[in-house]
Amino acid sequence: MNNNSKSVNSTAIKAEIKRHESLQSAINRLFKQFERVQDQQLRSGLKVFLTSIQVNIANSQEWTLNRSVPELRLGILGSLKSGKSALVNKYITGSYSALEKPDGGRYKKEVLVDGQSYLLLIREEPGPPDAQFSSWVDAVILVFSLENEASFQELYQLYSQLSAFRTDIPVIVVGTQDKISSTNPRVIEDQRARQLCLDVRHSLFYETCATYGFNVDRVFSEAAQKIVAQKKQAALQACKSLPNSPSHSGGSTPGSASNGPSSGYAYSLPSTPVVGHRELRVAQGEGGGSINARSLKSIPRRPSLFKSILWKRSGSSLNKEWKKKFVTLSNNGTLSYHSSSSDYTQNIHGKEIDLLRVTVKVPGKRPPRAVAPVGPSPVPPGSVPGVNGLNKDLTAADGTSTGRIMCLGTCNTSYALEATASLFGGKDQGQSSPMSDRKKNRRKKSMNQKGDAAVGQAEDEENADFIIVSFTGQTWHFEAQSLEERDSWVSAIESQILASLQSCESGRNKARRSSQSEAVALQAIRNAKGNSLCVDCEAPNPTWASLNLGALICIECSGIHRNLGTHLSRVRSLDLDDWPGELTQVLAAIGNHLANSIWESCTQGRTKPAPNATRSERESWIRAKYEQRAFVAPLQPALGTQMPEDSMPEWLVSAVTEKDLPRLLLLLAHSTKEQINSQPAGSSSLPQTALHAACQQGDVVMTQLLVWYGIDVRGKDNQGQTAIMIARKTGSKGCIDILLQHGCPNETSPTTATPILSRRSSTASLGRTSSRKRVT
Ligand SMILES: [Zn+2]
Repeated sequence: MNNNSKSVNSTAIKAEIKRHESLQSAINRLFKQFERVQDQQLRSGLKVFLTSIQVNIANSQEWTLNRSVPELRLGILGSLKSGKSALVNKYITGSYSALEKPDGGRYKKEVLVDGQSYLLLIREEPGPPDAQFSSWVDAVILVFSLENEASFQELYQLYSQLSAFRTDIPVIVVGTQDKISSTNPRVIEDQRARQLCLDVRHSLFYETCATYGFNVDRVFSEAAQKIVAQKKQAALQACKSLPNSPSHSGGSTPGSASNGPSSGYAYSLPSTPVVGHRELRVAQGEGGGSINARSLKSIPRRPSLFKSILWKRSGSSLNKEWKKKFVTLSNNGTLSYHSSSSDYTQNIHGKEIDLLRVTVKVPGKRPPRAVAPVGPSPVPPGSVPGVNGLNKDLTAADGTSTGRIMCLGTCNTSYALEATASLFGGKDQGQSSPMSDRKKNRRKKSMNQKGDAAVGQAEDEENADFIIVSFTGQTWHFEAQSLEERDSWVSAIESQILASLQSCESGRNKARRSSQSEAVALQAIRNAKGNSLCVDCEAPNPTWASLNLGALICIECSGIHRNLGTHLSRVRSLDLDDWPGELTQVLAAIGNHLANSIWESCTQGRTKPAPNATRSERESWIRAKYEQRAFVAPLQPALGTQMPEDSMPEWLVSAVTEKDLPRLLLLLAHSTKEQINSQPAGSSSLPQTALHAACQQGDVVMTQLLVWYGIDVRGKDNQGQTAIMIARKTGSKGCIDILLQHGCPNETSPTTATPILSRRSSTASLGRTSSRKRVT
């Protein structure tokens, strides 16, 4: 954003905050006045009306929302004893108030992130998070009091409830200590607070003191930064998940409409918005949150934010005419244009641009963070000077930054640069716009009309044009009546792009998947029998997995599983971690139903913990179930066989050769690592280990399970072959990979290693993007 629109934003934000505060205080005064009404029925009636006004106007963050203001939505959760109201109050007003607000509250404040103004919308929830709250927030601060045990316990519950709706938002944990004294000591020790942060998705933790203001501002500014960072990340991922998007290897340049059919993008991409994005917005609105979605559903003509007559340059490569268009910007994230306002009114012959995957640029202005070029080189002799500033861009010494790139998309930048480079590539010198012609005529300055570069530059700066560039290189070139109008258009479009990205966020988990196949595989896991509920407490939509148990667990149970140790449970996040093929296969093959048929078969009258169980209830159940194996189904010896302890290796081999996964799981649940690797008593008839058998069959799931349960990966069969030799013979790449990851054959400690898998890292993807080929 340039300084102009930045200060416009800041002014708009301040005005909005002022409006909101004066409305709130008027309503509060009215509430007090109502107390003086004698008639009790009338009094309560009036209060109901006023509450309704407060909810719908003052508390509705969307109401009178100025869409040109970028907003960040922050939710505050915590029990009544958590000190959350004092925290928010200190941040908003600068003063301390010990009162907890049982009804919560809505607040607005201006925040600066990277020098840019944002409107921070704060929503302090009085109760647990519901679907509407969860779909609304961009980030959540979870608050508990370091002096109140119950508030600490409740925080787990609130987090679990939030996780049922959203797991893709930044979370910050705050421990308040506003009133700690010798008579009111701290009860939550550091160790427990740290554990809480691990359990809550490795969140940041701050201790605050609202009495003195310690860390208060820092918490909110951290939250704002996290939201902005996440929005940037979302923009990157939205770009990656674009259908038909150019490959990241940079081998190809996106074709623009004027660039001939050398590449298929511009032609294969539908010119109307992709239906999927639209559905996403509607789906998100079902929680009741978004004005955009509501208007989409119920009002045929969407309310527009901006409309006016603009000049639009034809996209046809033959005829670069400028035509007047009736252009409208809707708050559902589309910009449409019609030949006339009557076409617009009748909703005919219009074209639409989906703003989700575009950038808006002002020719001649540099992206805010672009490196300054070496300096403009003179216009080459014979070139046609300044057509809407394009010529200058073409001849800039470094040939890179041609435009002003909006807000979020670092990736947008490189695409836009490539796209505009081809647009400005010299083949494209059409007519100058009617507007600039008129301006030239109007100009009072005595200058020669065409000629030296300085004049060309002066003209450039006067042209009120802007260009919308899609990721595929498609461009739409508009010109406004004045610079002011141009700036407000650009600013409004930029805000709409941001808003589109915001509403796109519910789809981020999917968008983040680096590959389609991984998304499909994860869906297969979710579809496995019983996987809609946590295997231990039956909380809905579990988002964590225990790999070796082949089961899905909720966030709260995952914290306890992690404490069991990896020999009992290997915990992994469905949302945050990578999921290579062999892991998804195990999870999809087992699932909670099968897992519980083994681990929870004989519960001896004990009842499972409920989703809202306390941590200690959960822990005692989970430890009994997996550590003490108290509920495991009994092992029925097959006919004529020994006690399983003595012949576990044989039993395992037979379960593997018979491809009997439930039996294998049951055996593993009954066995120790020593039993799995024991020498069979008496006979040496064993031809091979279960691992050999699994590799012989190329069975990735069984191979993986056996390795996790500690089978010796270097064991040899009676022909001296190791399992990996067998896997190489059968050509099972999956089995080979597993064996290699677990220290076969060269490593010395083969059984304990977890596959080396990177946690998803935003910096990694950023790096990938920025390394994309630049046009030079
Ligand atoms: Zn659970």
